Amino acid sequence: AQAPKYLTGDSSGINDFIDRFDVFLIDCDGVLWSGDHLFDGIVETLEMLRSKGKKTVFVTNNSTKSRPEYLKKLTGLGIPGNVEEIFGSAYSSAIYISRILKLEAPKNKVFVLGEAGIENELREENVPFIGGTDPNLRRDMTPEDWQGIADGSMLDPDVGCVLAGLDFHVNYLKLSMAYQYLRRGAVFLATNVDSTFPMNHNFFPGAGSIIIPLTHMTGQEPLSFGKPSQAMMDAIEGKFHLNRERTCMIGDRLNTDIKFGIEGKLGGTLAVLTGVSKKSDWESADAVAVPAFYVDKLSDLRGVGLG
Ligand code: PLP
Ligand code: CA
Repeated sequence: AQAPKYLTGDSSGINDFIDRFDVFLIDCDGVLWSGDHLFDGIVETLEMLRSKGKKTVFVTNNSTKSRPEYLKKLTGLGIPGNVEEIFGSAYSSAIYISRILKLEAPKNKVFVLGEAGIENELREENVPFIGGTDPNLRRDMTPEDWQGIADGSMLDPDVGCVLAGLDFHVNYLKLSMAYQYLRRGAVFLATNVDSTFPMNHNFFPGAGSIIIPLTHMTGQEPLSFGKPSQAMMDAIEGKFHLNRERTCMIGDRLNTDIKFGIEGKLGGTLAVLTGVSKKSDWESADAVAVPAFYVDKLSDLRGVGLG
């Protein structure tokens, strides 16, 4: 692939770049903030884009928060926004289940391996679910569990889908139940399959690392809704009716964000160097994806001398 174009304080290059697009899909962690630290100049940069009539959509693989919870994070950091601008992997999974999969009774329940963000999005779409944050599943297996799971008496016969994401309380009981539902033919979905996620200047196991035991047990791969999955792009397109040619994906991670934009045939991809991926990652011969543009930090889009 061609080397990316570096956008610096040269404002004509930046203005040409901004003029090419109507919609900016913006990854959050590593682009706008790191953990709970908002980067300098972000609020002003988003304001500048919006004042030029650009649509901004925040696209995150983080399934642990629902859209309203994510909006709280944005506004808490001082970024104005509304819930309709937020697109998370839990939301895209929930709308896929309710609007495309359309599970029919009696097999219309979802077994959730994951946190409240997933439950809240399913509830919003009126999709019945079990599992998730149910405190009764946060424990060791008893002899009754081994028996009840084996003979099916502990399983809900209405489960037609397993939706797995990051679960901070994953355990053998939940994995055993999810496995049995999949053995019985439940549709296998994942919010996202990130290997790790950044936290406190380090990395922790991501949703993909929680889900891999299930792919190993079943020999099946889930349909994933997080970046770089095009299921998420299709969901975004369905909601915002975007013109892909006039849309740019901005992100910090080549294997999720930039790959997502390239495979989605968007008009452009912009990498920022404030997150996970480094310049050397796309300069290497086996780079997973090469962005069309890059900046050191998102606020460089504000142009000369504005920081
Ligand atoms: N998953 C979790 C649990 C996270 O906390 C994060 C980032 O904070 C991510 C995924 C990656 O999110 P994004 O796509 O916004 O970089
Ligand atoms: Ca990111």
